[in-house]
Amino acid sequence: MCSHRLTLVEKRYLFTPGPTPVPPEVLAAAAEPMVHHRGADFREVYARTLGRLKEVFRTESDVLLFTASGSGAMESAVANLCAPGERVVVVSHGAFGERWVAICEQHGLDVEAVRYEWGEAPDADEVGAVVRQSGAGVVLCQQSDTSTGVVADVRALKAAVGAATLVVDAISSLGAVPLETDAWGIDVVVSGSQKALMSPPGLAMASVPPHVLERAKPSRSFYFDWPRNKRAQDALDAAFTPAVSLVRSLDVALGLILDDGLDAAFVRHVRLGRAARAGVKAMGLELFSPDDDSAAVVTAARVPEGVDGTALLAHLREAHGVTLAPGHAHLKGKIFRIGHIGWFDVFDIASALAAIELSLTELGAHIERGVAVARVFEAFETKVTV
Ligand SMILES: *Cc1c(COP(=O)(O)O)cnc(C)c1O
Repeated sequence: MCSHRLTLVEKRYLFTPGPTPVPPEVLAAAAEPMVHHRGADFREVYARTLGRLKEVFRTESDVLLFTASGSGAMESAVANLCAPGERVVVVSHGAFGERWVAICEQHGLDVEAVRYEWGEAPDADEVGAVVRQSGAGVVLCQQSDTSTGVVADVRALKAAVGAATLVVDAISSLGAVPLETDAWGIDVVVSGSQKALMSPPGLAMASVPPHVLERAKPSRSFYFDWPRNKRAQDALDAAFTPAVSLVRSLDVALGLILDDGLDAAFVRHVRLGRAARAGVKAMGLELFSPDDDSAAVVTAARVPEGVDGTALLAHLREAHGVTLAPGHAHLKGKIFRIGHIGWFDVFDIASALAAIELSLTELGAHIERGVAVARVFEAFETKVTV
């Protein structure tokens, strides 16, 4: 096979929506000498990180920080908010909505799922009606379902579910698209380190305001017990040994995000989404993710007729060192996804599109060549107001 690669040590290009590329200073922070997690050195980093998390979550309330992947924070919400047998509503429009269903079922809850076709956005009025009818006190949803690229209007969802506790999975959207936790009255937001927060995988967070803690049930998880973790965090004396190195990384990454400003990040993500969609369409591919500015997290495209999506991703990786994300479940082999959350710029989008164009051609697909990259830069330059 013809190779365009010149180096012996392969250069890798990571264009997935998690893990995402991590800036060098964030990686370097994780390589600092180990300190004890109950000593003054760590407390300083811990306090600053917890403060920065509140700013990024746009909340005055506690953001609990766990050593876990994002799913750990999801499970913490279920373990602390719901009792076995209790009815909950899950809004599902993709693979991560089905994860809420699976976690709730494993915890013995009575799950009423409001399901949408993957790729569709949930309808707030419809969800509100189901919640009222079901009498559920807890509603779980995604802001961005990373499997489809759909970003839901969680502000409208909160307005529609009224007094029910709304738990929003913002694992791929926090720091990428606007999420006003306090101003919109979102009860609980969960997130993770390895997506738009441009840090290594391994840390998870949950914002837990006092009114939610009051409604909490006795936790069915020792490790994820919210009151235990809150008491420990309040004393800057973590309940369990935190991933010290990852907290150092997250501290630096959050500092970078906040220095630039969250609003600047939101604008950048809209522009990256526009660039990716323009490039995909320019080569004649069909978008799977929505064709509008809401789709600022991940761009999903259908694999053209006659090409196997699994083979395309393998070719991109093996021949060109480029990693894209496949489709989940029934979409496997049918779509591919380009992440653009966190530490991405327009050259990443151009590189991803150029590699896709080249690979599709090498696999014998008939696509429009030589236009995608130009369209990427044009679309990136268009004006955005958030
Ligand atoms: C990545 C992701 C998760 C899962 O996070 P893990 O860190 O893999 O546990 C959950 N929800 C959404 C929307 C995600 O993008």
